[in-house]
Amino acid sequence: MNKFEQPIYVTKAFLPPIKEYYEKLKIIWDSKLLTNNGPIHNELELQLEKYLKVKNSVLFTNGHLALYTAIKMLNLKGEIITTPFTFASTTHAIVENNLNPIFCDINMNNFTIDVDKIESLITEKTSAIIPVHVFGYPCNTKEIEKIASKYKLKVIYDAAHVFGVEVDNIGIGNFGDVSMFSLHATKVYNSIEGGLLTFGDENLRNELNNYKNFGITGYETVESVGINAKMNEFQAAMGLINLNYINEEINKRKIITNIYRANLKDINGIYTVDDQPNIKHNYAYFPILIDDKKLGITRDYLYEKLKEYNVFARKYFYPLTPDFECYKGLYNKSNLQNAVYVADRILTLPIYGELDNKDVVKITQIIKEIIKKS
Ligand SMILES: *Cc1c(COP(=O)(O)O)cnc(C)c1O
Repeated sequence: MNKFEQPIYVTKAFLPPIKEYYEKLKIIWDSKLLTNNGPIHNELELQLEKYLKVKNSVLFTNGHLALYTAIKMLNLKGEIITTPFTFASTTHAIVENNLNPIFCDINMNNFTIDVDKIESLITEKTSAIIPVHVFGYPCNTKEIEKIASKYKLKVIYDAAHVFGVEVDNIGIGNFGDVSMFSLHATKVYNSIEGGLLTFGDENLRNELNNYKNFGITGYETVESVGINAKMNEFQAAMGLINLNYINEEINKRKIITNIYRANLKDINGIYTVDDQPNIKHNYAYFPILIDDKKLGITRDYLYEKLKEYNVFARKYFYPLTPDFECYKGLYNKSNLQNAVYVADRILTLPIYGELDNKDVVKITQIIKEIIKKS
């Protein structure tokens, strides 16, 4: 197999036809409203609530500050049960709130928090669970809700990967006390950078809006301490336009996912996660789990060899967050057998709407060639 002429990366940001963005820019130029809850920002919030089938939402300049703010506004204390198999943001948001992350193992079915291992980690210091819907696969929200109500814990979902996902026709943002969606350029749906909190308690709306704007509530009134995490009109304009393309983007990714699955299914030693009948998936990522004993090669070998063909897969998520330089030796990471196993064997393959179906087939043929030649 020849290598690809151009490098193929794990994702490519979705951009709409540039003409549509010019039209929005003209509106911004005419109004001179660039930020501070402008009309485009407000319209986007309404449209996102509709699309995600949620009652309440507040936009932020990025997902991380949204998550940080959610934790802050729920007044959490002490210990937070979370997962080590995630992006840096989840753990950082907990630690930056002066809280102690307690790492729970993940399950082997879809790599989300193992609900059978949560209860044994609960102490009198536990105030919340912060699970992650990883790769677009929803957590076991029913079990998490049961545990949370039994022990009176708050639940904040890191929903950065699950934009548009539904469980039994319920928008995924309806579970838990708060959910955080990331609208970063690398995600399924983007507003260049952006974040969204969705929540059931409408009283939270004012608090969140105040906190994201320095606690300022009037020309001469600053009621509380806050930060600046507002989304501007340029981001909101991109978000509003991209919302018209999200269904098409997800459909293209579904086709790519099915091509990968069909072409990899006969390889002994490569595992993929199947769709669930009650779930509307968003095909945000395409992770494969490599059983090196069966396959004869390791994840790292495949990762390096793919680069020689100009295919840049990613080791999401490796290393686990408690293994980051900044956290080494600080947190208990015993009983994380599944997370350790998966972090050493997971590889996410390129997936984005613009990726040619023929190129997806070729990537699977390259994988087969690498295995054969090894
Ligand atoms: C992208 C991401 C975030 C942070 O979102 P930003 O919008 O980039 O700040 C948080 N958690 C997970 C799991 C993510 O993938």
